[in-house]
Amino acid sequence: MPLEIVTVPCLSDNYAFLVHDAASGATALVDAPEAAPIQAELDRRGWRLSQILITHHHGDHIAGIDALRSGATVIGNAADAARLPPLDHAVGDGDSFDVAGHAVHVMDVSGHTIGHLAFHIPDAGAVFTADSLMALGCGRLFEGSATQMWASLSKLAALPDDTLVCSGHEYTAANARFALTIEPGNPDLQARAKATEAANAAGRPTVPSTLADEKATNPFLRAALPEVKAAIDMTGAADVDVFAEIRRRKDTF
Ligand code: ZN
Ligand code: FE
Repeated sequence: MPLEIVTVPCLSDNYAFLVHDAASGATALVDAPEAAPIQAELDRRGWRLSQILITHHHGDHIAGIDALRSGATVIGNAADAARLPPLDHAVGDGDSFDVAGHAVHVMDVSGHTIGHLAFHIPDAGAVFTADSLMALGCGRLFEGSATQMWASLSKLAALPDDTLVCSGHEYTAANARFALTIEPGNPDLQARAKATEAANAAGRPTVPSTLADEKATNPFLRAALPEVKAAIDMTGAADVDVFAEIRRRKDTF
């Protein structure tokens, strides 16, 4: 039986995710922006948390953990443990653990913070990216360098195209407005921007997306493409420099 993913809106624009294995009843939570909506979703479904996976140390991803952790194993980056709630299981890049026998692959995707993790769960067809790769965007470089974020995005881009990208925020509409300044003539991007507006108007989340969608429309993931380099007058420039320029433009957009 496949793993079920439930998106839980939290705070004003955050997402947490529940990953549920019906056969065993195991339920993992990825990030805990706040406890109440997550607990309400668990209660509504009659689920109990077996594991809590932490992507990074920012309060809008960990503030709810203390209130939710009873009975669950809290898993986060060993290298960033000093800034995280107490960990029951410390992991790092390349490690694997499991949710009820389903493998979870740990990827270091530093850039937004140093020590930001993504969790790839092939049996769920999903990667949990929080503030690294986001829907039509990527996280701001608060701690890491453009080189680190470009390496992180490149690792994520190597996952299968049909992978669901479960990212941490509903920033897609603003990201679409920015993306259109980079590639105004990209028809996939134009269509996605329209679909995003419609989803927002209807109160529907635009997260998760798919990696294929991101590859077709996300300017940060597309920095290596000749047409993107040409669009910002950087033909022939190194991929990472193009990424850095797009990130710089977004910071002042
Ligand atoms: Zn963050
Ligand atoms: Fe965040």
